[in-house]
Amino acid sequence: MMVATAGELEAFAADCPHLGLRTLDLASARAMVPILSPDVAAAAHTDNAWDIDTDRLLQAHAKAIRAAGGETRTKARVAAVARERYGWRVTAGDGSRVEARVLVNAAGAWADEVAALAGLRPLGIRPFRRSMARIPAPAGLDVARWPMLFGPGETWYAKPDAGALLVSPADEDATDPHDAWPDDMVLAEGIARYEAHVTEPVTRLVARWAGLRSFAPDRVLVLGRDPAAPAFLWCAGQGGYGFQTSAAAAAHLADIAAGRPPAIGADVARALDPARFG
Ligand SMILES: Cc1cc2nc3c(=O)[nH]c(=O)nc-3n(C[C@H](O)[C@H](O)[C@H](O)COP(=O)(O)OP(=O)(O)OC[C@H]3O[C@@H](n4cnc5c(N)ncnc54)[C@H](O)[C@@H]3O)c2cc1C
Repeated sequence: MMVATAGELEAFAADCPHLGLRTLDLASARAMVPILSPDVAAAAHTDNAWDIDTDRLLQAHAKAIRAAGGETRTKARVAAVARERYGWRVTAGDGSRVEARVLVNAAGAWADEVAALAGLRPLGIRPFRRSMARIPAPAGLDVARWPMLFGPGETWYAKPDAGALLVSPADEDATDPHDAWPDDMVLAEGIARYEAHVTEPVTRLVARWAGLRSFAPDRVLVLGRDPAAPAFLWCAGQGGYGFQTSAAAAAHLADIAAGRPPAIGADVARALDPARFG
């Protein structure tokens, strides 16, 4: 559900068709989210949106890796990538080595750095910080069935999260690859934008964190063979949609690695291909 104050109606009108939202009368909007401020002048909604249980999704992917005889190694930072006759030799900081015919670069914000380790040209993958605050359920209400709420122009959003509410300033601050943390002022300003649309002030945070959303220069996912090294596959630049797209991205990369025609279709495959950067 998108909600707008009187001063935001232009951005609201621009976003609604783009996001497939239908205008909702304010009484119906308040029936769904009882804390909407009297200053809210317009609301729009869609039923066509779903929540992802991210922990369950990751566990399902990890289970699939184990079932296929694979292994997940943590605390093994890749320190060197050498091109060999058979494919690749990867050396981790802990001294362990892995040899493979095909290497998939799924290093998130560090994707360009890992490509450089392999002697390949970076594609301009840039990380941008996004922060989150977790606040107690406003007025002690049951928020479980509330829709995700957001402000026009992606200026903030809020969504139910296991009995509490996540509020994000929807920040997108360029940064270097690092283990991100939230900036207090960015969070406070985002919470203020959220508060302008509700009756309940935020008096306490339960938790806060930040992460990196990494984008290619054209903000489209990068999935496919490196033009200069066909056995080096890119899986990068997912921006804010890496969870949502993970299963399809993995299936597409499996098609490429196995030399099968792409199930997602040649046009989509071409749009995602790193070769588009020349
Ligand atoms: C606040 C926030 C909200 C988001 N909301 C959504 C959402 O609603 N829906 C959605 O679909 N997506 C969302 N995303 C985006 C999603 O989290 C990312 O697109 C996704 O995590 C990208 O996955 P990844 O595995 O490619 O990269 P990452 O999750 O960044 O993982 C990359 C991994 O590579 C490792 N690595 C890097 N360099 C090396 C090295 N040299 N050696 C070994 N390992 C290395 C890193 O340690 C890291 O573990 C959100 C992101 C943020 C920050």
